[in-house]
Amino acid sequence: MLKLIHHYFEEVIKIKKFDLTIIGGGPVGLFAAQFAHLHGLKTVLFDSLSETGGQPQMLYPFKKIKDIPAYDSITGTELIDNLRHNLTDTTIFTNHKVENVTKQKDGFIIDDIVASRSILITTGAGAFKPKALPLSMDDDTQKRIHYFIKDPPKFVGQTVGVFGGGDSALDLALELANYANVKIIHRRNQFRGLESNVKKLKSLKNVEILTPYLPKQINLVDNQLNVNLKEMGKDSLTNIKLDQAVVAYGFKANNRFVKKWGIDLAGAQIKVNSTMQTNIAGVYAAGDVVTYPGRVPLIALGFGEAQIAITAIMRDLFPEKTLTIHSTSF
Ligand SMILES: Cc1cc2nc3c(=O)[nH]c(=O)nc-3n(C[C@H](O)[C@H](O)[C@H](O)COP(=O)(O)OP(=O)(O)OC[C@H]3O[C@@H](n4cnc5c(N)ncnc54)[C@H](O)[C@@H]3O)c2cc1C
Repeated sequence: MLKLIHHYFEEVIKIKKFDLTIIGGGPVGLFAAQFAHLHGLKTVLFDSLSETGGQPQMLYPFKKIKDIPAYDSITGTELIDNLRHNLTDTTIFTNHKVENVTKQKDGFIIDDIVASRSILITTGAGAFKPKALPLSMDDDTQKRIHYFIKDPPKFVGQTVGVFGGGDSALDLALELANYANVKIIHRRNQFRGLESNVKKLKSLKNVEILTPYLPKQINLVDNQLNVNLKEMGKDSLTNIKLDQAVVAYGFKANNRFVKKWGIDLAGAQIKVNSTMQTNIAGVYAAGDVVTYPGRVPLIALGFGEAQIAITAIMRDLFPEKTLTIHSTSF
């Protein structure tokens, strides 16, 4: 019995206490953490991936974003670096997909490691995993297949295949073309991305566009990727050689897991009221994970929603305080 009680207290002591838990470290979660810190909230942030940054960091790190207020343009990576820079006082757990949220009398327990007085869900498109190249291959071949590209200069002088035809594929191909010979392989003749990017790629001498082709087989031969492509609607195979392959087929993600926490959804997104509160008192949501009439999936809008949510959380947690709204007064 004594041993059990001792164990119980050990468990309780292990659980750290916070004013606010932010679930999801994309741009909106990161900015929310910064704003929460300005208000003096003790905050913890979780992200399911090995690093924070969400879609800009993972899907379009090199794209020049042109609709962030006060910047002519800023790349996905620069934006995320700037947002991370301000978070020295936030406790951050990466590689941690939050699974369980349990309601307590005076707050919530998150995955049995954190006790929190409030929650802000900023899971965006959801805990995403890249869609894999659907071909069987051995480990050595697998090592040449990339789903995230952080350092394009390391491919200098090589031939890199980019598989996919959406915005991410086009952005990656353009960035890689600064260093490498690029072959874009897409199963349709039309791309699902900015026409200006398609035009630019078509104008580059070191870029070859292979459409409509589907990869059928890939293996490593003489230190190169040997790829067989099938032309759509035909039986014949075309063979290409690559040094590296980048797969930009998009990501599998969903937010339905929040349903088991008792949160009301509309489709795959969370319903919120005008203070960004969900149907559960103390649980708020902001960014791409939420929906309401007229919402658009843009970063700047998510930043504003984060400010609304954090202000409402402050009012919930510290009703006795006269709330300071402007950062200059903190
Ligand atoms: C190719 C492309 C180009 C775009 N260009 C622009 C643009 O030019 N301008 C613009 O404003 N917007 C643009 N967007 C949209 C923009 O990226 C999104 O609006 C923005 O990323 C939403 O931010 P978020 O923080 O809400 O979500 P996300 O960026 O999706 O981040 C969510 C984070 O939550 C984490 N997460 C999810 N589930 C869990 C869990 N259970 N536990 C822990 N962590 C979890 C994920 O790993 C992720 O890091 C673009 C999107 C794409 C795909």
